[in-house]
Amino acid sequence: MRAEKKELKTENLVIIGSGPAGYTAAIYASRANLQPLLITGFEKGGIPGGQLMTTTFVENFPGFPNGVQGPELMDLIKAQAVRWGTKLIEEDAISIDLSKRPFSIVTTTQKIKTNSLIISTGASANRLGLKNEKLFWSKGISACAICDGATPQFRDEELAVIGGGDSACEEAEYLTKYGSHVHLLVRSRKLRASAAMADRVEANPNITIHWETELLDVLGNNWLEKLKVKRRDTNQEDEILAKGLFYAIGHTPNTSLFTNQLNTDSKGYLLTKPGRPETSLEGVYAAGDVADSEWRQGVTAAGSGCKAALAAERWLTKNNLATLIKRVELEPSKAETTKTLEISNEANFDHEKTWQKGSFALRKLYHETEKPLFVVYTSSSCGPCHILKPQLHRVLNESKGKAMGVEIDIEIDQDIAKQAEVSGTPTVHLFKNKELKKQWKGVKARSEYKAALDKLLD
Ligand code: NDP
Repeated sequence: MRAEKKELKTENLVIIGSGPAGYTAAIYASRANLQPLLITGFEKGGIPGGQLMTTTFVENFPGFPNGVQGPELMDLIKAQAVRWGTKLIEEDAISIDLSKRPFSIVTTTQKIKTNSLIISTGASANRLGLKNEKLFWSKGISACAICDGATPQFRDEELAVIGGGDSACEEAEYLTKYGSHVHLLVRSRKLRASAAMADRVEANPNITIHWETELLDVLGNNWLEKLKVKRRDTNQEDEILAKGLFYAIGHTPNTSLFTNQLNTDSKGYLLTKPGRPETSLEGVYAAGDVADSEWRQGVTAAGSGCKAALAAERWLTKNNLATLIKRVELEPSKAETTKTLEISNEANFDHEKTWQKGSFALRKLYHETEKPLFVVYTSSSCGPCHILKPQLHRVLNESKGKAMGVEIDIEIDQDIAKQAEVSGTPTVHLFKNKELKKQWKGVKARSEYKAALDKLLD
C-alpha cells in the first residue's frame, strides 16, 4: 500500500543522488549547518550509492594506498554525510517542478519544497536492445560482472564481456577468476580503457580480445549458450560459445526529470558554466557524472559535489534563504559503519538471533524453526547487497523476533547456491516450514519483503 504523501517545510537544500558527488555535497552542506536533505534514489538510475557500488577495487581514490572496495568506499562516504547531520530519503524522486520557487519535488511517498537543489543523479548503464536480450536477461546476460560473476552457472564456463572501456577491461579481468575463458568483444580496433588497464587485459592469456566485432544476437535454450557476432572488417558472421555475457558499453545521464527545465547537451548531460556547478537556473547546481561526459571518475565527482555545496551555500546566504541549525554538541558522535557478520558454527549459533550467516545457520534454521525464514544470497563484492541487507534487517527488527534471516555468501557456499538455483546476487528466498513461499532477484522496496512476511505471520 502507498503511504500518505506528507507536506514538509521548505528545505535549505535538497541533493538528489547518492554517489560520491551527492554525498560529498552533503558532507559540505551539513558541516555548513544547512542540514541538507538527500534523496538517495531507489531503482531509477541504477542503485543507490551509484556506479562505485558495482565496482571491485578502486585503486585511484586518494587516501587508500592499497585500494578499497567500491561499496565499502560508498559506505564510508555515506556514514560521513550522516554523521554531520544529512537527512536521507531512501526513495526515488518521481517529479520535479523548477518553474516556481521554492522548487517542488515529489518522491515515492513525500512532497518536498526546497530553496536550492543539487542534482547528482549520475548516469545509467546502457543496454544493446538485441532481439533475444530480454529472453536471456538474468539467464546469462548481466549488466554487472562484479555482482553476478560468482554465480554457480558461470563457474568454469566460457564467458564474454562487451565494451572496450575501463569497465569492460575491469570486468573481463574479474571474470577470469570464475570462468574458464573470457571473450572481450570490442567494436573498434582499440581499447578506450586507461593504458594500465588495457595492458593488463592484453597480457592476460585467459582473455581473448575480438577486435572489430559486433554482437548481433544471443542464442540459447532457457540459459544463454551462444553469441552471434559479425566481424566489421570482413562482414563475416560467426558464433562464440558463452554461458555468460556482461554489458559494459557506457552510460546515459539520468536527466529525464529535468527535460525542458534545464539546459542539456545533445547527449542529455546537464550543461553548467565551464568548470563551475551552476546550471542554467539560479539556485540549481549539478555535480558528478550527470554533468560530466568527459572525466567521470569517483574523485572528480566528489570534487564537483564539494563545489556545488559551496556554491549553494553562498547563493542561499546572499539571498537570505539559509536557515541554519544550531548544534548542541560541537563534535558529532562517531560515524556508524557496517560491521562484517561472523559465520555461525556449532559454538556461536544462536536460535534466538534474528540474523546469522553461513550454511550451518541455514541448515539449523531451515530444519528447526517454525518462523518464516529469509535466506539472502550475497557475494563479497555485490554492491546492491549493501543496499538490501539493512532493509531486511529493518524488516526483521520490526517483526520483533517473529522471523529469522540467514545470509549465504555464494562464493563460500557454492553448493548451496547451486542447489537453490541462484543466478545472481542478491537473491532472497522466503521460507515457512521448509516451503519456499516467495523469491526476489535484485533489491526491492522494503515494503515488498514486509508485505510477504506479514502475510505469513497473519
Ligand atoms: P566508456 O564510455 O569509457 O566505454 C564504453 C565502451 O563501450 C567503449 O569502448 C565503447 O566503444 C563501447 N560501446 C559503446 N556502445 C557500444 C555498442 N553498442 N556495442 C559495442 N560496444 C559499445 O564507459 P566505461 O563504463 O568503461 O567507463 C566510464 C568511466 O568510468 C570512464 O571515465 C572510466 O575511466 C571510468 N572507470 C574507471 C574505473 C577504474 O578506474 N577502476 C573502472 C570503470 C570505469 P568505443 O570505444 O568504440 O566508443
